[in-house]
Amino acid sequence: MQRYRIAVIAGDGIGREVIPAGKAVLEAAVAGSAELVWTDLPWGSDYYRETGAMMPADGIETLKGFDAIYLGAVGDPPHIPDHVTLWGLMLPIRKALDMHVNVRPIRLLPGITGPLRDKGPADIDMIFVRENTEGEYAGVGGRIHVGTPYEVALQTAVFSRFNVERVVRYAFELARTRRRHLTSVTKSNAQQYSMVFWDEVVAAVAADYPDVEVQSLLVDAAAALMVRAPERFDVVVASNLFADILTDLGGALMGSLGLAPSANLTADPALPSLFEPIHGSAPDIAGRGVANPLGAIWAGAMMLEHLGEADAAARVMRAIEATTAEGTTLTPDLGGTASTDQVAERVIAHLSAS
Ligand code: ATP
Ligand code: MG
Repeated sequence: MQRYRIAVIAGDGIGREVIPAGKAVLEAAVAGSAELVWTDLPWGSDYYRETGAMMPADGIETLKGFDAIYLGAVGDPPHIPDHVTLWGLMLPIRKALDMHVNVRPIRLLPGITGPLRDKGPADIDMIFVRENTEGEYAGVGGRIHVGTPYEVALQTAVFSRFNVERVVRYAFELARTRRRHLTSVTKSNAQQYSMVFWDEVVAAVAADYPDVEVQSLLVDAAAALMVRAPERFDVVVASNLFADILTDLGGALMGSLGLAPSANLTADPALPSLFEPIHGSAPDIAGRGVANPLGAIWAGAMMLEHLGEADAAARVMRAIEATTAEGTTLTPDLGGTASTDQVAERVIAHLSAS
């Protein structure tokens, strides 16, 4: 039987509620065919309060020994500034493990009524490929004349040809497995260096994919079009910042941020990739057992698929869809009254029935 070693960083807030729910579903999905060996890593904000760091100094080395990483959410606003938690854990992991793309499906599940009342599951079915290691989040910049009236802060966006090219190529390859349509999101009118460069790279890579139709949109226009005509999107490739913002919009189009999953995929086959719901620690609802676990469960399905367990992954997806289509066991964010654990149990019941 195939064994997979999975590092688990449940993290903070509702991360600690949705990850156990996700583990239970994944266990049920692979039962009898594969073994998931979980290692819980107690990293995050409590670890920071005890040690002054979000994870141990050898944390990255530790993660390299696993087949995959399953993460809940990290952050404890307003007690610890978000830039401390983000730069103490998530961003260093993404960079050190070369997680070059962040794949984020945006899909309206059956039975869910999103905010766009005239749009159904056939209209809202796109997948974002987010540049994940540089761009506006490269961490390059600084402050001078601190505390004076002449203070200046710089946050420099970094786009390397090597990286943009591999991210764009990933998106074209993905488009070939879907409806062969790729939207590239930029702001080339205002950002004449970085985004014009991005457009050039997209045009160059597009020459290798004549079968994929390319649409180029400015980020502001893309945001409006996602609301007005979401059916015009299939695969979307965008920079770190733009895709971060647009996928929160996408989560809203899905009916709840709690439904949206993501995969941080490494470019190095010897390293683990990381799977997480896109939502944060949600301190406003944490500790009450009402967080929606479906985004974390869906992220878990993406992890199973990545590990090579395609059948189990597809069964988890069908069980998620059966649960939303049925509509009787949903958390309050979707208008229901069920708890996190009840939703997970319902998904497991549908798994067993399939
Ligand atoms: P981050 O800074 O980590 O991205 P955020 O500011 O985007 O976090 P979230 O923690 O994702 O904030 O929460 C945003 C809103 O969505 C909150 O009102 C939260 O309660 C709600 N929310 C997020 N995830 C879930 C979930 N799984 N179930 C129910 N509601 C959720
Ligand atoms: Mg957010």
